[in-house]
Amino acid sequence: MENNPTEKLVLPHPELSEEEEPPSQSTFIDETSLIDEYLKTRADRDKSVISERSLAFLQKHFPEATTREWNNWHWQIKNSVRSIAQLSKYIRLSENEVKPYEIQSQSLPLRISPYYISLLDSDNPEQGLRKSVVPVFDEFLVHPGEAADPLSEEHDSPVPNIVHRYPDRVLFLVTGFCSTYCRYCTRTRMVAKNKCHIGVKAWEAGLNYIEQHPEIRDVLVSGGDPLTMPDLHVEYLLSRLRAIPHVEIIRIGTKVPVVLPQRITRPLVNMMKKYHPLFMSIHFTHADEITPEVKEACEKLAFAGIPLGSQTVLLKGINDDVQVMTNLMHSLLRIRVRPYYLYQCDPVVGSGHFRTTIEKGLEIIKGLRGHTSGYAVPTYVVDAPGGGGKIPLLPDYFVGREDGYAILKNYEDKIFRYPDFTP
Ligand code: SF4
Repeated sequence: MENNPTEKLVLPHPELSEEEEPPSQSTFIDETSLIDEYLKTRADRDKSVISERSLAFLQKHFPEATTREWNNWHWQIKNSVRSIAQLSKYIRLSENEVKPYEIQSQSLPLRISPYYISLLDSDNPEQGLRKSVVPVFDEFLVHPGEAADPLSEEHDSPVPNIVHRYPDRVLFLVTGFCSTYCRYCTRTRMVAKNKCHIGVKAWEAGLNYIEQHPEIRDVLVSGGDPLTMPDLHVEYLLSRLRAIPHVEIIRIGTKVPVVLPQRITRPLVNMMKKYHPLFMSIHFTHADEITPEVKEACEKLAFAGIPLGSQTVLLKGINDDVQVMTNLMHSLLRIRVRPYYLYQCDPVVGSGHFRTTIEKGLEIIKGLRGHTSGYAVPTYVVDAPGGGGKIPLLPDYFVGREDGYAILKNYEDKIFRYPDFTP
C-alpha cells in the first residue's frame, strides 16, 4: 500500500478496529511539494530497510514471512510476543525471567514486537534492552513509597483521559495500547487494560474540555502509544485539535519509532505534517536501539518538519552509567533527535529494581555537561510524587559568594571568581 501514492490511507488493523471510525477524514495525499517527492523516493528506496541482525532473526524464526511482511507494522503487531512461553522460543530465559510465568499475575502484561525481540540478546539476561521489556520476578516486590499512580494523574484529571496539571497545557491520554510494554511504565495502571483502545467517541469529553479552556495552548497527546492507532484515528485527533484556535502546539509522546519503526510510513508522515506545529517526544532507552530502521524512521519524521526530542528514563543496570548515557545522547543527535528529558524512574509499584538514587542522575548529568556538546545534555527531572510536576535537578555549580564575587565551579571542578557586582 505504501508504494502507491494514489491509494487511500492505511485501514485500521482488525486488532484495532473495535474503535469507532472518525466521522470524517482526509485521504488526499498531496504529491506536489518537493518534500513529498523526496519522501516518496526515500520510501521507495528504503522500503526494505532491515538490519542484518533483524534479517537473520526473520529468516530463523519466521521463514515463511517476506521482508515486505516484516516491514508491515500490522504484521509486527499481529506477530508480537504476548506470553513467556512464546518468548522462550526466541531467548533462553533465566530463572528470574521464568518466575513471572509461574506466578502469572503481573499488572502489566507482556507484549514485544518481533522487531524489538530481534534486538534482544538471546543468551544474556543482563542486556539492557532485554531488561527493559522482559518481565522478571522483581516486579512482584513492592517497596516503600511506590504507588499505582505515583504522579497522581487521576487526581488532576478534570474529565476522563485529560490530565491538567500545568497552567497552559494538558496531557491527553488517547489510548492504553502500546506495541511493546516497558516494564517500568509509569502508566501501568492504565495501559494494556481491558478496554485499552479508548476509541474516538471517548475522546469527546477531552476535546470539549480543551475547547472550553482558552488557556490551553499546548496539548501533549500520549497514552499508551498514540502511534499504534490507525492513520485515520491519528488524523481525526490531530484535525480536531488543530481546529481549536487557542491550541498553538501539539506534541506526540511515543516509543513507536524505537520499538516499531515500520509504523513510520510515508502516508503517516505526509498526513502529520499537515498539522504543524507538531512536535514529537520519542522514548529511547539505550544506544542499542539506534538501528538503521530507527534512523530511517526518525529521518522521515525530521524531513516532514517535525522537531524530535528524546525522553529517557534512568534505569539501574540499563543506562545508569556516564559512558552508556553519552553513547545514547550522541547516537540520538546523529539521527536528528535532540536529547530532551532524562527522567528519574517514577516509583510505580514493582519498579524498585529499576530505580537509581538521585545522586546517580546528577553524576550522569555532571559527566555530560561540559564534556560534550550542550545539545547532547538532556534536562534531568524528578516528577514529584503526589502531582508536584517535574522538578529539574542540576549538579551544584554555584559554590557561594565572597567579597561581591560569585564563586563558581566549572565542569572540571575548577573554581572561578565571577565579578557579580551590580552598578
Ligand atoms: S511506551 Fe510508554 S506508555 Fe507504553 S509501556 Fe512504554 S512507557 Fe508505558
